[in-house]
Amino acid sequence: MLERLRAAVSPYIGRILDDALSGKELTTKDAVALLKAEGPDLHALLQAADLARKEDVGDDISYVVCRNINFTNVCYVGCSFCGFARHRDEAEAFDRSDEELLAKCKDAVTRGATEVCIQGGIDPNKDHHDYRHILTTIKGVYPELHIHAFSPEEMDHAHKKSGMPLAEYLRWLVDAGLGTMPGTAAEILDDDVRKVLSPNKLMTGRWIEIVRTAHSVGLRSTATLMYGHIEQPEHVANHLGILRSIQRDTGGFTEFVPLGFIHEKNTLYNHMGARAGATMNEDLRMVAVSRLFLRPWITNIQVSWVKMGIKLGQMALCSGANDFGGTLMEESISRESGSDHGENTPAEDFRKYIREIGRTPVERSTTYQVLRRFEDPALDPPSLEPDRQVELSGPERWRDGSRVRDIELPTPNLNGY
Ligand code: SF4
Repeated sequence: MLERLRAAVSPYIGRILDDALSGKELTTKDAVALLKAEGPDLHALLQAADLARKEDVGDDISYVVCRNINFTNVCYVGCSFCGFARHRDEAEAFDRSDEELLAKCKDAVTRGATEVCIQGGIDPNKDHHDYRHILTTIKGVYPELHIHAFSPEEMDHAHKKSGMPLAEYLRWLVDAGLGTMPGTAAEILDDDVRKVLSPNKLMTGRWIEIVRTAHSVGLRSTATLMYGHIEQPEHVANHLGILRSIQRDTGGFTEFVPLGFIHEKNTLYNHMGARAGATMNEDLRMVAVSRLFLRPWITNIQVSWVKMGIKLGQMALCSGANDFGGTLMEESISRESGSDHGENTPAEDFRKYIREIGRTPVERSTTYQVLRRFEDPALDPPSLEPDRQVELSGPERWRDGSRVRDIELPTPNLNGY
């Protein structure tokens, strides 16, 4: 039986998977082949990535308790995949005051957050002082809160306004309380693709320059990639190759987060002919190939539950990934593009989903230090979420909460048929 399963895997894919599992670095050509794997090859790829995950980081699955804060949605960059940006004169445009930012931080801390993730649109009226002011305002009241903020696009914008050398500018933000940088605005690191997705955004060379310089001053970052639109496997493989070579030199990436394209409400899909996001196979392949290609340099592979949903996220965590991402508490960027997977996954829900797939939940810091390991569900702390109101439907008399019924679970029995 097992021999038949093995024989169904094509020799070329089998050789690449053997190489990956024996610790050889895969080539971009290998990655392209894996990114096209189907049928038995795909199943073998997912299993190999799961084995590699176990060897690299063990069976724990981590998450971080964090809150997203988008300080403004005013933006004139015009990325074709973005449903979040608004122009200043539009009714839904916002620009959060200091009081609003602090109220969101207070809510985050009350709900157990160790991190706030702060990103916004590129408002031409904002400069480097505005970005620094956000950091000092938050750190002034919540010195313990880790600030994960400002994508390379935001760094590019504010750095140009500052007139400072890049390294000096980044250190200036670190001194004001910046903890780590999101490695977003990467999309696909290929200028031909970028010119279609976002011709006004920073190009590949500048993204690399900002990330490498950040790492060189001790400012670590995540690494991301957006897939499921107009890119081809070769673009993805080259992108992974760029990330791996940066990590080899700097060691500054904390994790890799593949982000599926959310297509429903944006121009790229509706007017420019992009694919309608990734298929399930593409989602799983992406995670599995990341694990095999990036090892041993980047060993934390995160699933985005906002993009994939919980159940596919669980499947991805059985196909090479080891991190469930953040609780988020509030999420606008994917929601505005049409994602309907929610905005908040409380820590207790993460623990439940992780245990459902037979693994152990771990709360981590932004930089992957283990804060708490939750081996025994009986010892889990109480929820820090505000009361959840459950809305019942059905005939009115069934909804009466005072009539809670104890049920006796039936004992199953094999009947021999
Ligand atoms: S992705 Fe960012 S930079 Fe691009 S339009 Fe949206 S908010 Fe602006």
